[in-house]
Amino acid sequence: MSALAFNYKRKNLSFAKGKGSFLVTAQGKKYLDFVQGIAVNSLGHANQKLIKAINRQSKKLWHVSNAFIIPEGEKLAKRLAKRTFADSIIFQNSGAEATEAAIKVARRYFYSKGKEYKNRIICIKNSFHGRTIAAIHASGSKKMTQGFGPKVPGFDHFEFGDHVKLKKMINKNTAAIMIETVMGEGGIKVIPTWCIKAIREICDKKGILLILDEVQCGIGRSGKFFAFEYANVKPDIVPIAKGIGGGFPIGAVLMTNKVAKAMVPGTHGSTFGGNPLAMAVGNAVLDQINKKLLDNVKKMSKYFISNLKILKKNYPNVIKEVRGLGLLIGLQLYKDQTNFIKKLMDNKLLTIRAAENVVRILPPLNVKKSEIDMALKILNKVCKEYN
Ligand SMILES: *Cc1c(COP(=O)(O)O)cnc(C)c1O
Repeated sequence: MSALAFNYKRKNLSFAKGKGSFLVTAQGKKYLDFVQGIAVNSLGHANQKLIKAINRQSKKLWHVSNAFIIPEGEKLAKRLAKRTFADSIIFQNSGAEATEAAIKVARRYFYSKGKEYKNRIICIKNSFHGRTIAAIHASGSKKMTQGFGPKVPGFDHFEFGDHVKLKKMINKNTAAIMIETVMGEGGIKVIPTWCIKAIREICDKKGILLILDEVQCGIGRSGKFFAFEYANVKPDIVPIAKGIGGGFPIGAVLMTNKVAKAMVPGTHGSTFGGNPLAMAVGNAVLDQINKKLLDNVKKMSKYFISNLKILKKNYPNVIKEVRGLGLLIGLQLYKDQTNFIKKLMDNKLLTIRAAENVVRILPPLNVKKSEIDMALKILNKVCKEYN
């Protein structure tokens, strides 16, 4: 009997160590890990440079309060600002904290302009922004909010793609539109670039803010540093987490100067967020998100997705759709995917579910072609069994 609560239906499988794209059990059984802690280990397991960075920092200084200057955090913030649209950054520890901070920033911006009434956030129905009380109500998902009432006010929802409803929904109380650039948990739904562009235009026209949640699709996973770069837009606020820590819990909210100015002393804080240990790892991750790695993501994505499309052609009764951007890939099945994922696991390939019967595939960003071939072989075998 586990002393852990039952809030997860865990597979009867655990691991002793990992290296790159692979996980190994205590008995020495090797699995191809195309989950990577759900898009967290962007550089795979046991990345040498990350090991070095955490070892070095752990001997110097782990934690000090944000009441003091933290040079490692100053450095990471400056580097993120230099590479992105952002002027200013607040560090957190997780994705949910980052999305909640994004909501706070949007509201505080209008408050600072004397427009406290502008506080409502519009989100896509059945999206995902984390598991905290406000974030679950931002998702507009019945499943996630059930039993966790009362409903947190301040969120409005439209269906994916329904811009007519979206435009109608905006009123004088609207502060921002918050969407995931690629919906991860929601079933790897890539929001088309024309749609992101249109939403940016709507925000400009109505004088409201655009929050793009890049917690899952950001930090290189899409093949660009941020997925919204494909649409060539500039958001106002972007929460990040997962990939930036490479396995160490780091979250952050990236902002333009315009909105960041509202976050004066006392408006937000975090005990752990941005501590020296986390920041040393974050800097070592960022060192490796370079052009070569992003080129690998694009190349491997093209190869993987084109072969998955062939697989779909060969098994048209099993696979309904291949979705994805970069190395955030979804295989939508006609039937519930639980057993399919179990069969992949039995064949030593780890994947994870997403909504709409999707098998979510998340290799590390430095995945090799030979590893993708290995996955394709297993996928082919399981499709054959399913046919
Ligand atoms: C995972 C995720 C979150 C929540 O991150 P946690 O670290 O689990 O709190 C928020 N938004 C998106 C898009 C995510 O994929």
